[in-house]
Amino acid sequence: MLLKLKGVTIHYETAEAVKGVSLEVDEGAVVGIIGANGGGKSTILKAISGLVPLTEGEIYFKNERIDGLATHEIVNLGIIHVPEGRRLFPHMTVLANLKLGAYLRKDKAAIESDLEVIFKLFPRLKDRYHQKAGTLSGGEQEMLAICRGLMSRPKLLLMDEPSLGLSPIIIEELAKIIKDINKNGISVLLVEQNASLVNEVTDRGYVLEVGKVVLEGNITELMANKLVQRAFIGG
Ligand code: ATP
Repeated sequence: MLLKLKGVTIHYETAEAVKGVSLEVDEGAVVGIIGANGGGKSTILKAISGLVPLTEGEIYFKNERIDGLATHEIVNLGIIHVPEGRRLFPHMTVLANLKLGAYLRKDKAAIESDLEVIFKLFPRLKDRYHQKAGTLSGGEQEMLAICRGLMSRPKLLLMDEPSLGLSPIIIEELAKIIKDINKNGISVLLVEQNASLVNEVTDRGYVLEVGKVVLEGNITELMANKLVQRAFIGG
């Protein structure tokens, strides 16, 4: 087991955003969290990253308890968050944004060779490495946000709605990127509302409704479920 959440409850002041959520990500898996807006999906990812505190429950990474750790300690363990809306530094270049992904690493030579690998995989970023991140297209910005995450050599990538604002063709590209990342040994926890992306890249999923897991299991079975179809359409 790579990641395990046990009975996680989270409040924002008095409002309960997440209610007793338990979920697991196996080593090497791509797991989805799906459901309508406001269901608490982003909040779960933020809790794993140490950005919001738990009211109740526990989070384990490789059997080690991580709730209560500082975000930089969690990053150091290899858990990297690619946040909703990409959160790039728009006035900095593509290269500078990528290098920020490696800010906790000391292995300078390996950082340079990782940059080469990324530029080979994503030639569009190489062509634009001097360009300010804010001038990239939506799809390019998502790629950059993912690559910035990869620069820290993660073990687990937390992806928050990467398909947001992207065209179907770019979402297809994104699916291929997520599969390639996973083939390279990185596990993924993907928060999404795009049913076809979830269906294509995940093995297992959890359906969240107003902060609670209402269904979980094999993704093909989940996708066939009426409740899931309603959750996607009813967002
Ligand atoms: P979306 O797909 O719209 O991002 P989500 O499933 O990721 O939705 P969250 O963003 O986790 O849902 O929000 C869960 C609940 O917590 C919502 O009711 C939201 O209004 C509330 N919430 C989120 N962030 C805060 C905050 N900083 N302060 C107060 N309430 C918040």
